[in-house]
Amino acid sequence: MSSLAGLPPLREVIARHGLSASKALGQNFLLDEQLLDRIARVPGPLDGALVYEVGPGPGGLTRALLRAGARVTAVERDRRCLAPLAELSEASGGRLDVIEGDALEVEPPAGAHIVANLPYNVGTALLVRWLGGEPWPPAWRSLTLMFQQEVAERIVAKPGGDAYGRLSVLAQWRSEARLAMKVHRSAFVPPPKVMSAVVHITPGTQPEGVSAATLERLTAAAFGQRRKMLRRSLAGVPGAVEALENLGIDPERRAETLAVADFVTVARLL
Ligand code: SAM
Repeated sequence: MSSLAGLPPLREVIARHGLSASKALGQNFLLDEQLLDRIARVPGPLDGALVYEVGPGPGGLTRALLRAGARVTAVERDRRCLAPLAELSEASGGRLDVIEGDALEVEPPAGAHIVANLPYNVGTALLVRWLGGEPWPPAWRSLTLMFQQEVAERIVAKPGGDAYGRLSVLAQWRSEARLAMKVHRSAFVPPPKVMSAVVHITPGTQPEGVSAATLERLTAAAFGQRRKMLRRSLAGVPGAVEALENLGIDPERRAETLAVADFVTVARLL
C-alpha cells in the first residue's frame, strides 16, 4: 500500500507524466518540500480541516496540505495532472478529491480554508469574487494565496502610497489581510520574471449599513482617477461629495489619503 512518505520526488512525477510547464496555464511549479510545508502552515493548524486548493498541478502544495492532516478538495484545469493527482489521492488514503475544471466556474465547499498558487489573472479574479461576495461572513474560513509580490503589496497596503487602492479597500474593509511570506522567483520551476508573496486573509465583521456593491462603486470612481481631487473623481457618484463635506473630509484630498474606514463611512451615507 502506498503512503505519502513513499511517494516519488515531484521532479520524477513531472518527468514521468510529461508535465512540461505550460505558459498558457501559468504553470510555475514549487518543488521544495520545506518551503511548501511553510506555505501549508500559513492558514494555521490543518489537522482534520477542509482545504480547497485551486490549481494543484503536479501536487507539491497538495502533498504539504495532506502532510499537515487536511482533507483536500482540489480543482485543476490541466488534464495531464489528473493521473499524478489520482496517485496522490490513493497515497493519502482518500483524503484528496480532485475536480477537473476551471476554478472560475467552481464554488468552494463550505467551511474550507482556500489555498492556491495560481496564475496572476485567475488569482486576482478569484480574490475579487471571494472578497466581494454577499452574505458576509463568507462560506470560506480563510484565504492563503500566492501572488506577484507587487499585487500582494497592493492587497495589504495602508493609505498614503501608490500601492494603496481598490484592492486594499476590498481586502481590508471587512477582512484582516497580511503578507505572510515572500517567495523568491528562483523557488519556482521555471522561475517567473518577478518575485512572489503569500497573502493570508481572514473574514472579519462587516460594518453595518454598507453594501459591498456601494463601496466598490465608490472606490472604483475614487481610484479610477487617483491623481485628481476627490471633488473631481467622485463628481459622478450621486451624493458622494456632499457626504465628504458632511463628514468633514476635505474634498480637495486625493483618494489615496483616505483610510479604509473613511471609505466605509462615506459609502454608508450614499
Ligand atoms: N500548485 C502547484 C504548485 O504550487 O507547484 C501548481 C502551481 S501553477 C502556478 C498554477 C496551476 O493552476 C497549474 O497547475 C495550472 O494548470 C492551474 N490552473 C491555471 N488556471 C486554472 C484555472 N482557471 N482553474 C484551475 N486551475 C488552473
